[in-house]
Amino acid sequence: MTVLVFLDPAYPAGRIADASKPQLMATDLGATRGDGVFESMLAVDGHARKVGMHLERMASSAAALQLDFPAPQVWEPAIATALAEFARVHGNAPAVVKLMLTRGPEGAGSPTAWVAASPVPESTGRQREEGLDVLLLDRGYDSSVAERAPWLLLGSKTLSYAVNMAALRFAKQHGADDVIFTSSDGKVLEGPTSTVVLAVVEDGVKTLLTPELESGILPGTTQSALFAAAEKEGWQLGYGPLEPTHLMQADGVWLISSIRLLAPVKSIDGSPVPVSRELTDELAALVETVL
Ligand code: PLP
Repeated sequence: MTVLVFLDPAYPAGRIADASKPQLMATDLGATRGDGVFESMLAVDGHARKVGMHLERMASSAAALQLDFPAPQVWEPAIATALAEFARVHGNAPAVVKLMLTRGPEGAGSPTAWVAASPVPESTGRQREEGLDVLLLDRGYDSSVAERAPWLLLGSKTLSYAVNMAALRFAKQHGADDVIFTSSDGKVLEGPTSTVVLAVVEDGVKTLLTPELESGILPGTTQSALFAAAEKEGWQLGYGPLEPTHLMQADGVWLISSIRLLAPVKSIDGSPVPVSRELTDELAALVETVL
C-alpha cells in the first residue's frame, strides 16, 4: 500500500491522504502535460538515503522548469511523516520514497507537491543478483544538444518519462531487460532510469568511468556518491566521453540508481560482457556506505 503525504501550508508536517481515493485534480498540469519534476529515493530502517542530494537535484530540475520549489524545511517533515506512516503499515520494510512537484491545476498558479512511500519492487533484488541484458538505443539527439537547446530539459528529472518508459518496453519486447541510450553521434549516455558506470582494471590500477554530464544526462546521485566513496578507496575516476566499444572492452559495466542500486550488465545487444562478482561486490559494498 502506498502512503501519500501532501505538502499543505495548513499542515506543517504534511497532510496524510488516502492513496486509494482520487487526490489530484484532473486538470493538474503534472497529469495533463507531464509538467513537473520528481525524485525517487530509497529508505532503509525508516531513514531516507541521500535526502540532501535528492532535494538539491530536484531544486535544480525545478529551476530549469521555472517552477517554485518548496524549501527543504518543508519537504523534510513531510518525508518523516510519510516514513512514520509507512512503518506503521509495513513495519521495517525498505521503501521507495517519491517526491513529486507539478505546476498545479490549470489556471491555479500554485504547484502541487506530495511525498509517496511504497514498498520496493521485488524485481530490483533479482536484477542485482541475475544481471541485465541491455540494448543500446539511439536517443536521437547529439551529445552537444543539451547546451544548445536547454528547453529540451535534458539533465532535469521531469515528470515526462513516457519516452524512457517506451524505451524500456521496446527492450522487453525484444527480449532484453534494460536500455543504454546512445547519442546520434555515437556516445554512451544513460539508462532510462539509471546511470552507466564501467570499471577498467589495468596493472593493478582500478578506474571507474561514467559519461560526462555535458552530454545531456541526469546527474546521478548514486554515481556521484559511489565515485566519492571509491576515490577514498584508491580508485581512479574518469568522466567520458564514452563509446559502445568502451563498454564492450571494460572489466565490468553496471546500471546504477537509488532504488535498484548496482545491477551488473551481462550482455549488450546480445554480445556478452564480463560480469565480475568480485568487482560487483566491492562496488555494491561502497554503495551501501552511502547513507
Ligand atoms: N538517469 C536517469 C534518466 C534516471 O531516471 C535516474 C534515476 O531514476 C538515474 C539516472 C539515476 O539517478 P539516481 O542515482 O540519483 O537515482
